Amino acid sequence: VESLQINWSKAPCRFCGTGCGVMVGVKEGRVVATHGDLLADVNRGLNCVKGYFLSKIMYGADRLTQPLLRKKDGVYAKDGEFTPVSWEEAFDTMAEQAKRVLREKGPTALGMFGSGQWTIFEGYAATKLMRAGFRSNNLDPNARHCMASAAYAFMRTFGMDEPMGCYNDFEHADAFVLWGSNMAEMHPILWTRLTDRRLGHPHVKVAVLSTFTHRSSDLADIPIVFKPGTDLAILNYIANHIIQTGRVNQDFVDRHTTFVKGATEIGYGLRPDDPRELAARTAEDPAATTPSTFEEFTELVSEYTLDKVAELSGVEAGFLEQLAELYADPDRKVMSLWTMGFNQHVRGVWANQMIYNIHLLTGKISEPGNSPFSLTGQPSACGTAREVGTFAHRLPADMTVTNPEHRKHAEEIWRVPEGIIPEKPGMHAVEQDRALHDGNLNFYWIQVNNNLQASPNSSGEAWPGYRNPENFIVVSDAYPTVTTLAADLILPAAMWVEKEGAYGNAERRTHVWHQLVNAPGDARSDLWQLMEFSKRFSTDEVWPEDILAANPDYRGKNLFDVLFRNGVVDRFPVSGMDPDFANQESHDFGFHVQKGLFEEYAAFGRGHGHDLAPYDTYHEVRGLRWPVVEGRETCWRYREGFDPYVEPGTGVQFYGNDDNKARIIAVPYEPPAESPDDEYNIWLVTGRVLEHWHSGSMTMRVPELFRAFPGAVCFMNPEDARGMGFNQGTEVRIVSRRGDIRCRIDTRGRNRMPRGVIFVPWFDASKLINRVTLDATDPISKQTDFKKCAVKILSV
Ligand code: SF4
Repeated sequence: VESLQINWSKAPCRFCGTGCGVMVGVKEGRVVATHGDLLADVNRGLNCVKGYFLSKIMYGADRLTQPLLRKKDGVYAKDGEFTPVSWEEAFDTMAEQAKRVLREKGPTALGMFGSGQWTIFEGYAATKLMRAGFRSNNLDPNARHCMASAAYAFMRTFGMDEPMGCYNDFEHADAFVLWGSNMAEMHPILWTRLTDRRLGHPHVKVAVLSTFTHRSSDLADIPIVFKPGTDLAILNYIANHIIQTGRVNQDFVDRHTTFVKGATEIGYGLRPDDPRELAARTAEDPAATTPSTFEEFTELVSEYTLDKVAELSGVEAGFLEQLAELYADPDRKVMSLWTMGFNQHVRGVWANQMIYNIHLLTGKISEPGNSPFSLTGQPSACGTAREVGTFAHRLPADMTVTNPEHRKHAEEIWRVPEGIIPEKPGMHAVEQDRALHDGNLNFYWIQVNNNLQASPNSSGEAWPGYRNPENFIVVSDAYPTVTTLAADLILPAAMWVEKEGAYGNAERRTHVWHQLVNAPGDARSDLWQLMEFSKRFSTDEVWPEDILAANPDYRGKNLFDVLFRNGVVDRFPVSGMDPDFANQESHDFGFHVQKGLFEEYAAFGRGHGHDLAPYDTYHEVRGLRWPVVEGRETCWRYREGFDPYVEPGTGVQFYGNDDNKARIIAVPYEPPAESPDDEYNIWLVTGRVLEHWHSGSMTMRVPELFRAFPGAVCFMNPEDARGMGFNQGTEVRIVSRRGDIRCRIDTRGRNRMPRGVIFVPWFDASKLINRVTLDATDPISKQTDFKKCAVKILSV
C-alpha cells in the first residue's frame, strides 16, 4: 500500500555522460527512491553506485536556498560578509555591476562559464544571452577542460562533431582498446557491457593503456602502462605497423579519405612570457588544410619503429605489437574508447586525430563494432556543451562565430539584427582565469560548475582572479563549494528533477524529463536565472548605436522580450501543457519555456545532419540518437543503410566535408610541456574515482558515497614510498612550481602506480590538487593538460 503512494517517472541519471535511464519515485513532493530503468536501452535496469544514490543528492543539509551577497554597512562590498538578499536585490546588484563593466570596458569584459551539466535549454539560453544579448563570446563550458580536443579533432577530420557510432558497438566489437580510460570507474555501466561481451565471447580482446594500473586493467588481455605523454608515439607506431605489414584498406582510403598536412602547429598554451612557451615553435599551418599524400604520411610515420617507440614509451615491444595487430587484423572489429586521459593533453587534438587515422587507414569505422568512440564526463557534455554551442568559438549545430554565413543564420533564427553576434572567438577557460587575474574580465557568471576546484593552477590564477577587487563574480550552485566561497554573489540553483530538463549523452542520445519536485526555499533553475536577469536590460543599454539606427524597431526593447519571449509565447502557451507536468518557469513566464527554446534550437540542425525529433516525442521515449529523420534515430552515421543522409550507392559519405571524404592528418609525437627534472622529480597525474562526481559537491553529501571514499589520497608505488622513507598513510606535501597540498600516501589502494608516478584525484575540496597542476593547454583545442606535471614530495 505504501509503495502505491509513490509516483514513478523517467529521467536520465544526473551524473556522467553514459546517460543511464532511471526511474524516479516521488512521494509528498520529495524524491524518495530511484532505480535503473529497465526500458532504457543504455543501462537496461542497471545503475552504478552513484546512480543508486541519486535520490539523496538533493537533500544535503547545506543546500543553498536564498541568494547571498557580500555586504558591508548594508551595501555590496568585495570584502563584505555573505548576507541573505532577495532575488530582486540580487539581480539589481548584478545588473548594476554588469552595466558598469559594459560602460567602462565594453562587452569583452563580460564573461560566463558553464558546463555539460546545464540542460540543453539552459546552455542554449546562455549562448543566446551572451552572444546576441551582451555581444560577448566570452562563454565557455567545463567541457573545455574535458573533451575540447575530441570535439576539435572530430571537426578537423569529419567536418562534424561527435562519434559516428553508438553504444550498440559494444555488442559487435571483437576488440576494445581503452586509451587512458578507466571505464570500470568512470563509465561503469558501459564497462558492464564491455565486460559482458569479453567474458561471453572468448575471441574478444581488451587492451588497456594507461600511465598506471587500475581497475580496468584487471580485464586486460593486453595491459599497457606507458610513460606520460607518449601515447601519440604509440599511435604513430600503430599506423606505421599497419602500413609496413600491408594491411591498409586501400579501397576505403582511396574512396573515402584525403591526406592533408598541418602537424607543425605547436606551443603549450602557457602564458606568452613563460620561457617554455617562448622556446616552443610557432604555428605554420593551423588549419591543417595543405594537401598531402599517402606517401608523405607513410614517410612521416616510418620513423616510429617498434624499437624506438618501445624505448620512448617504456612499453614492452611484444605488447605494442599485439596492440597494433588488433587494429591491423582485417577480420577483427575494433572499438577505441577514450575520455579525459587522452584529451587532457597538450597534443590532445593530434592524439584524437591519430586514432581516426588508424580507423580510416583500415576502414574500421561507421559500422557495427568498428568505432572510434570518445566518451564524455558530464551528463550533457555533448547535448549542451557541444551541440548548442557554448564553447567560446561555437554556435549551435557545429557552426562557428568566425564564419559570416553561420552568424547570419543564427541571427535569422534568433530574430536579432544582422551584425549582433561578434565574430571574434571569446576567451577560453584558462584564458578567462588569466584575464580575471589581470583585471581584463570584470563581470563573470559561473553556473553548474565548481570552477575553482576544477581549474588548473588555481592558486596562481583563478583564486586571485576571483578576488581581484576590479571583478564582480556571480556563482549559481545548489551547494556551497570552493567556488561559491570566492564569489561576490551566490545564487541558489535548482538541480536535476527540480526542473524540466534535457541532456544529450555520449552516443548522440537526447533525452528529456519533467520537473518532478520543487527546489528548496528560493532556489531556482539556471534557466529561470538567465531569463530573469535578461529582463534588467534594454537593447539601448547593450547594443551599439549603429545597429539600433539601422534597426529602429529594436530600439528600447527589453532584452527578455527580444531573446526569449517574442516568437515563442504564442506558439507554446502554458495553457497547452499537461497540468501534471507544468513546471515553475513556464508558469512564471507564461509559456512552455523549455519547449519553445528546444524547438527554436532544433531549427539549427534540422536538414543539416543534426535533426532532432519534435520536443514532445522525447517525453514518450527513452531518448533518441540524432539525426532523427522521419521518426527514426541513427545508430551509425556516414554509412549507407544506417544514416539517411548517405546517398544510395555510395557506401560511406563523410558528409560533414564538402567532398564527402574524411581527412587523414599526419601528426608527430611531441614531448610534454613539463617533465620531471632533478628538483621536481616525479610525475603527477590526476583524475576521478568511481564514488565521486567530479568535484564531489553532490556525492560528498551522500553519506554512503562519502564513507566509501572520504578523502583524496596520493597513490604511490610502494618502493618509491619506501625509498623516500614514507609508509602507508604518511602525510606528505606534494609541491609543484605553482602550489602545494598535503595528502596521505596510499601504496595499497585500487590504483597501482609505476615507479616515479603518483595519482591524486581532485574530488576533495580539502585537498585541492589543482593548486598544483599546470595550466598548459592544447594550442588547437585550448584543452587543459591536467594529466601530467612535475612535482616533488616533501615530508610534512
Ligand atoms: Fe549515472 Fe554514469 Fe553511473 Fe550510469 S554510469 S548510473 S549515468 S553515474
